Amino acid sequence: MSEALLELEDVVSGYDELQVLWGVSVAVMPKRLTTLVGANGAGKTTLLRAALGSIRVWSGRVRFEGEDVTRLSAYQKAARGLVLVPEGRQLFNDMTVEENLELGAYTARARPDYAANLERVFTYFPRLKERRKQKAGTFSGGEQQMLAVARGLMASPKVLIIDELSLGLSPLLTQQLFGTLADLKNDGLTLVLVEQNLHLALALSDYAYVLAEGRLHSEGPSREVANDPDVRKAYMGM
Ligand code: ATP
Repeated sequence: MSEALLELEDVVSGYDELQVLWGVSVAVMPKRLTTLVGANGAGKTTLLRAALGSIRVWSGRVRFEGEDVTRLSAYQKAARGLVLVPEGRQLFNDMTVEENLELGAYTARARPDYAANLERVFTYFPRLKERRKQKAGTFSGGEQQMLAVARGLMASPKVLIIDELSLGLSPLLTQQLFGTLADLKNDGLTLVLVEQNLHLALALSDYAYVLAEGRLHSEGPSREVANDPDVRKAYMGM
């Protein structure tokens, strides 16, 4: 087995006095799609925040490319290629598609690749090319989510972490976007998904971690997790 690209080791974290994570370990393998599963409030977003540096890791470690990055800021981590597509999209509504994409290429690592990344993004999302001069705020929910993923790609990610891709989207749009994720994975990108739509996420991903109340409930190849009776009952309505 190859080495993990991103590794969380026994991560404990939370907000002020509120401890949310109680020692969570996750390994993200290169060129694989890893899914984080869990009920509302299980701590998935908190785990991403701790991994990416927007909240403090109280104890435990975050390793990226074998190096300890626990104390690096979110910006420093993004500069190394650890990139988040946040829940709720957070686009600049008054700016055009192209301007939003330009802002995605904000790190020194990404700037020299700007033209190539833009071309690549427009290949994955031809719709964005057609609408490159349109303001993001006029887009439908699905188009905005596309743009959010595209902006993440403009940062030249080594790991692209996507929080709740399908939130608020129609089943058809969700399926289309997951199709693009499959293309990205086939092209060698390492992906992490936090996703409520377990059917699709587990069908597409290689490995899954199940979080419950800030602890790992279970982990395994996605197919096994999808067949776990506990998971089916708790999260898939089966
Ligand atoms: P969801 O699917 O609803 O986003 P989640 O698994 O991502 O859930 P978190 O958002 O990580 O869960 O929330 C875990 C716990 O941390 C919850 O009890 C939540 O109320 C709390 N929490 C989340 N964000 C904050 C914050 N900024 N300040 C204080 N508490 C927070």
